[in-house]
Amino acid sequence: MSVQAKIPALRLRVSAAAESIVRAGHPWVFAASVRGQNRPGKMGELAVIYDRHDEFLAAGLFDPDSPIRVRILHKGKPEPLNRAWWRRHWEAALARREGLFEGHCGLRIADCGFAGAVSEAGVSELVSSEFPLADSLIRSFRTGFADCGLEARQAMPVHGRTTGYRCINGESDGWPGLVLDRYDTTLVMKLYTAAWLPRLGELEELLATLGDRVVLRLSRNIAATAREEFGIEDGQMLRGMAPEGPVVFLESGLRFEADVLRGQKTGFFLDQRENRRHVESLAAGRRVLNLFSYSGGFSLYAARGGAAGVCSVDISPRALEAAERNFALNRDVPAVAACPRETAQADVFCWLREPAARRFDLIVLDPPALAKRASEREEAMRAYSRLLTGAMARLNRNGMLVAASCSAHVSAVDFFDLAREAARQSGRGYEEWLTTRHAPDHPVTYAEGEYLKCIYLRFR
Ligand code: SAH
Repeated sequence: MSVQAKIPALRLRVSAAAESIVRAGHPWVFAASVRGQNRPGKMGELAVIYDRHDEFLAAGLFDPDSPIRVRILHKGKPEPLNRAWWRRHWEAALARREGLFEGHCGLRIADCGFAGAVSEAGVSELVSSEFPLADSLIRSFRTGFADCGLEARQAMPVHGRTTGYRCINGESDGWPGLVLDRYDTTLVMKLYTAAWLPRLGELEELLATLGDRVVLRLSRNIAATAREEFGIEDGQMLRGMAPEGPVVFLESGLRFEADVLRGQKTGFFLDQRENRRHVESLAAGRRVLNLFSYSGGFSLYAARGGAAGVCSVDISPRALEAAERNFALNRDVPAVAACPRETAQADVFCWLREPAARRFDLIVLDPPALAKRASEREEAMRAYSRLLTGAMARLNRNGMLVAASCSAHVSAVDFFDLAREAARQSGRGYEEWLTTRHAPDHPVTYAEGEYLKCIYLRFR
């Protein structure tokens, strides 16, 4: 991605503290740390940062409107950020997923022997799909498996195939403010900074190496700038035709739909896959309650794991309808078909205050981010406390609570301590089974990027 011709490169000097932080790998330079610049910068242009000895320190995307003034793309040895560099940078992020989701890299799904299973669900588009991923991924797949028949299936991870996952996780993959998720053959690129907006053409070139259908999603904070200054709308297509309905993909062999055009995040909560797998392994014979269920991700895994019943609670009727459709998509899985299920459309805070008519053996508590900004942290801690206590009161003897938080402003240590304290206060004996953090396709390399944590507590 070339810097505009003729005008001198945008050069910045930053405070000594910011210099050390960037050197240590932090991806942001705040406006308050900028000590000087050679000219006003434009949205999305490359800013070159020099250290106090006038040596190259880093280069990044400039955003004149954000307190995060520069998002670092490259640090260390100076290098031209030319087309070849961007391509290498792109492939490096994709290559980090190598080996995580075997069996679906650039090969026709029909070749892999799954066409039958998929077409039964009426998901015809899956059958003929082709999805060329990065060359290195394709190579690793081909060298890993002699052909794409039986060997590939036998080499599948025990959980089954996954065709929905994160390909690029923003800053932590070297692509600040940019997320790329894949749902089968549909890619969803979500931008969290307006600095990418002038570079959409160049991004499209890179995206073309991956697939023919790419949806653009915008975070709420940049939607107005995108519309007014760039004529770009949330949910518009970058490549190909808009899907007519939700996109169907596989996660651990289960079928789910993703509302890629309007759904939360990029259409599905891909970040909870590993916790869902744990829940599946814990569900056999248990009555399961899924609080803040969204489209029933945890509920489906619990059902496949042999739950005695699953109750999904969410405030959104749309989310619960999606959960119903997800159950329907998996009715050919015997355990899913056999599992009694129900939904309750309710505010979980109120629902938990109602006199407990029933108790459960396994409760998943996965609320939305309760602290969206630092100032909301204390209130969020109180809200988590109420939820944890309310959920624990609904647990049977030997019941397991799986409690997650996705608030970046509440640290993992604080959330785990809060859960342990609520468990102590319950007066019941308990054991800690597990704590988890980010999934491998959602790597995090800097403190502000950490948000997801989950604790598993078994009560006596
Ligand atoms: N566990 C889900 C993701 C949860 S996202 C998964 O694995 O996919 C948070 C969900 O909480 C959303 O579906 C939202 O509709 C719901 N929600 C938000 N506030 C709520 C409330 N007060 N009561 C019930 N549901 C709520």
